[in-house]
Amino acid sequence: MSIHEECGVFGVISPQPGEVGRLAYYGLYALQHRGQESCGIVVNDDGVFASHKDLGLVGEVFDREVLTRLPQGTMAVGHTRYGTTGASNRSNCQPIEVNHQKGHMALAHNGNLSNAARLRDALELSGAIFHSTSDTEIIAYIVTKERLAAPSIEDALSAAMAKLEGAYSLVLMSPQKLICARDPHGFRPLCYGRTADGSYVAASESCALTAVGAEFVRDLEPGEILVFSRDGVVSRREHCGKTQPTPCIFEYIYFARPDSVMDGMSVHAARLRAGEILARTHPVQADVVVGVPDSGLDAALGYSRASGIPYGIGLVKNKYIGRTFIAPGQDHRLDQVKIKLSAVRESVVGKRVVLVDDSIVRGTTSGRIVSLLREAGAREIHLRVSAPPFLNPCYYGTDIDSRENLIACHHSVEEIAQIIGADSLGYLPVEQLRALIGGRYCCDACFTGRYPTPVPADSRKDRFERKLSEKSV
Ligand code: SF4
Repeated sequence: MSIHEECGVFGVISPQPGEVGRLAYYGLYALQHRGQESCGIVVNDDGVFASHKDLGLVGEVFDREVLTRLPQGTMAVGHTRYGTTGASNRSNCQPIEVNHQKGHMALAHNGNLSNAARLRDALELSGAIFHSTSDTEIIAYIVTKERLAAPSIEDALSAAMAKLEGAYSLVLMSPQKLICARDPHGFRPLCYGRTADGSYVAASESCALTAVGAEFVRDLEPGEILVFSRDGVVSRREHCGKTQPTPCIFEYIYFARPDSVMDGMSVHAARLRAGEILARTHPVQADVVVGVPDSGLDAALGYSRASGIPYGIGLVKNKYIGRTFIAPGQDHRLDQVKIKLSAVRESVVGKRVVLVDDSIVRGTTSGRIVSLLREAGAREIHLRVSAPPFLNPCYYGTDIDSRENLIACHHSVEEIAQIIGADSLGYLPVEQLRALIGGRYCCDACFTGRYPTPVPADSRKDRFERKLSEKSV
């Protein structure tokens, strides 16, 4: 519940000038769940870029006036951000724009480089000056540097990819081309589709294609570069097949929208399966199964179907809490959960409840939710979690960054149940994780510690800010 999503990227290229900025706006709306800190759109009007970026939700940053001011064009890229590297400030808003004598470029990135610190050090020592603390600027810098010798922007991107490690799904716009790329591990999703008027649309999740009326064509392969231009679509695969693809399993459990399909697997179906597995591995006598909105709902349905225990709406989420919501301080965490969630007394009073949630990080939120249900009259609460215990940080674009804060690193399952006040607790068995996506290989490092790439010594979100302040002492 308290893990933050990473980012959402969106791109469109149209055969005729039109309201591509508005299309990007609708696409970003569908990707809002992937990042709520900031957002931005860059429109390409015959090689001239116009942009608008700011802190806030898509609906807050892009009002009618801003949208009307965006010019018509043939291409646009958009981004919604929850920063996993770099602070939440305007300089870290995306898409990043680069003006260089070899041409303009706008870049939107989802993921996190695991060798960002090393790359940034090397670039700074060769004279680079960074304006932000996000690792996306590192990618922009390397692509621009490679562009000096490369015959095309896609060649420059390909040369840059040979230097990048970790997670990146990119949408890059040059004056003439829209280019998408997915890292060779395929940590983060990226797909594309086509609209009836012949526009191509790329997005982090297929739900954004559906939102703009585009027909899904396919996911990018891990390592693939796709180049869209007036000449059509060209796929480059020089980085494909060089390593075992390891898409993030937690996208299916928590990050992605249930109506998305990623790498041919439905997110909703994966969550249902998680619930079914929990019902088999952690059965309990109960009267009702309740999911924690939003990502616990599908797994709760799966548990209910597999166990035969009726499904009920036991918790309701306030959908209208945006970035402008002034959260109560640490001392008032209880109030914060109560403002976001409330219990439906009629569903739980006097009942033995199976409560299904997607994860437990510190345990604080889970404890609050258990209290809510108890106050509403639940007789017993049996918490079932549709993921295994978090035991390790993530270096690929989520803010699971410290073992200190992970309750499962310090307590047994029985102790955690006691701390959060549940009558029993059961996690998805780690050996069943891949069953959620048909047995495919995936990244499960935050649960197992098996990292698909070398990992950095410092993964804190503010590592570049800390370095800057250390230097200025
Ligand atoms: Fe996903 Fe966990 Fe791997 Fe991060 S470490 S990419 S959250 S599975």
